[in-house]
This record gives sequence, structure tokens and C-alpha cells, in this order.
Amino acid sequence: MIPIAKPLMGDAEKKAIIAVLDSGVLAQGAVVEQFEKDFAAAIGARHAIAVSSGTTALHLALLAHGVGPGDEVITSPHTFIATGNAVLHVGARPVFVDIDGETYNIDPSLIEEKITARTKAIIPVHLYGYPADMSGIMDIAERRGLAIIEDACQAHGASIHGKCVGTFSTGCFSFYPTKNITTGEGGIVTTDDDALAERLRLLRNHGQRQRYYHDILGYNFRMSDVHAAIGLAQLSRFEEFTQKRIANAAFFDSRLSNVITPKVAPGFKHVYHQYTIRVKGNRDAALAQLHANGIGAGIYYPVPLHKQKIYLDLGYRDDLPQAEKAAAETISLPVHPALTDEELEKIAREVGRV
Ligand SMILES: *Cc1c(COP(=O)(O)O)cnc(C)c1O
Repeated sequence: MIPIAKPLMGDAEKKAIIAVLDSGVLAQGAVVEQFEKDFAAAIGARHAIAVSSGTTALHLALLAHGVGPGDEVITSPHTFIATGNAVLHVGARPVFVDIDGETYNIDPSLIEEKITARTKAIIPVHLYGYPADMSGIMDIAERRGLAIIEDACQAHGASIHGKCVGTFSTGCFSFYPTKNITTGEGGIVTTDDDALAERLRLLRNHGQRQRYYHDILGYNFRMSDVHAAIGLAQLSRFEEFTQKRIANAAFFDSRLSNVITPKVAPGFKHVYHQYTIRVKGNRDAALAQLHANGIGAGIYYPVPLHKQKIYLDLGYRDDLPQAEKAAAETISLPVHPALTDEELEKIAREVGRV
């Protein structure tokens, strides 16, 4: 089976881990600091605050923006569960707005009707590595005085007219093994705001500025130096990995004609965390056929957030037709940088037969 994702771990990662073990400094040391500096530089942010996962990155960003009980946060229902759950973690309520059926990202034209006096923030998700329509979203946020927290957990290096996602406002990234670069488990929050960066650092580390003096209620959301060492080694190949994903996607674009392939608007850079197609006819039969022929295709995601049991139990009864259609009609193909030319050929051939 050609896997849907495959982390590329080389000698650099192995050497970096051993060096951390030999140093004796395993947590919140110089390697974490270097990873933060290098990641911030790679995407063009002023600050990056490393954390334990993409989920804690979102949680921390919401805390730092003062989002809490009684507040509402507007986001996409077509995403990984963590986007909505991080809002629940801080005691606020996610409000789901339907997606654009072509980009799979939140539809800005539907946001304003969901804004209430309780709305505090918008979390656009740059799903599959494709940037959300940030100009439309920022325009609304500015007019209505809302914070923006970008869920860029699938979109390391994606950009709009050269500006990377995660730098339009507060950015949240994941380094889970399937993501475009990994630390094993890990995440990072990016911002250009000095005061917000300071608050993020305090909240990440039990509210302490000085060891064992705690100013505010904080958390242990720290990344270890072992994980940061893996991340530093991955960063040295970040551009190479991204270019290979883009080249793989271009190959599929040129070869697939029986399915709807991803659209990319002028000026938008898609980094293809997933290469997601829409099939006409029976999606589940198409998926079963691909699996039977050795293609490890996946569904991201089979159930939109407002239809998940946890949200049904909370009383959610939204009707979000585009998100529901996307959950029922899409298939994501392996597009990761470890694919060989033979594997790419085989994937294109098998998709052509469905
Ligand atoms: C992976 C992911 C997260 C959460 O990241 P973890 O590191 O797994 O906690 C959040 N949002 C989206 C869109 C993701 O893909």
C-alpha cells in the first residue's frame, strides 16, 4: 500500500537527537530557542513560541487573546476536531460557518450573519495547505473588532502574494508526523506582536518569568529539546519537501481528468498537505477500489465538526451543506515528498480507472 503520509527521517534528525541527549538539557533549552528563531525566519514572523502540539498552539493562542467563557469564536466545520475543541477548552463556543465548495475553506461571505455581541475571534483554517481568503476575513475582522487566529496546522509555507499564512495575524502550526514538517509531536504559535508573544511565553510555562515565581495562571505546553532538534533538521529540508509536494500535485493536475482536482487562485501558494479530489458518483466505492489496488487514499474528514457526537451532544443542529457535501464526496491522495515516480504513475493510473 502506498501510504497517505510518510515522515522523512534522515541522519540529520538522528544526529540532532543524540546531540541533545548528550547535552543533558532536554527541556526548554537552547535547541527549542533555535527552532523558534529558525521557524519564525522561515515563514517571516517576528516571534515563534514552540509548544507541545498544534492543539495546544490553538489553545494557547485563544488564551493569549483573552477568549474565554461566554465568548463565541467563528470557524470552519470542515477541519480536524482540534480546531473546534480548542475553543471548547477555553470555555468558549465555536460557531460554524459553511465553507466554499471549491477551496474547502471558510466562506467569508457567510461570516457576518453569524457575528453576535459575544463573537470574539475568527479562526480561519488553511485546509489541505491552501490559504483561506485572508483579505475577505481580515476586512470583516477589522470592521467588527474581532481577533484572527489562523489554524495553519496543515499549511507550513503556504502564502498569498508571497506572505506566508500564520503571519496575517496569530498563527498556529502543528508538527505531528503526517504534517509537512514534523517534530514527532509539537506545535508553534507565531505573531508579530511583542506583547502577545510575551503573554504566549508566560502562559506556555506556568506563568513564570523567573523560576518558581508565578504571575498568572499558566500551563505546561512546552516543547522538549529532543523534539525541537528533529524540527531543526526538518527545517533544513523544508523548501525541498514543499517543492516536491508541489511537483507531485502538478503531475496529478496534468494526469487526472475524471475527477475534480484542487483549484489554486492567482497569487496563492498551495503546499498540498493533502491533494484532495472530488469524485462524481459513489465516493466510498471509489475509495475501496483505490485501497484494493494499493493506493492508501484517505478521507479528510468524513464527519464535519457540527455532526460529530460531541457537538450533537452540545446541542449543535447546523445545516452546512457545502461542508457536508465535501465530507461525502472528497478523497485525498498520497502527495507526500517520499513518493517515487513509479508510485506517482500508479496513483494516477488507479484514479483514472475509478
Ligand atoms: C493537525 C491539526 C491540528 C492539531 O494538531 P496536533 O499537533 O495534532 O495537536 C489542528 N488543526 C488542524 C487543521 C490540523 O490538521
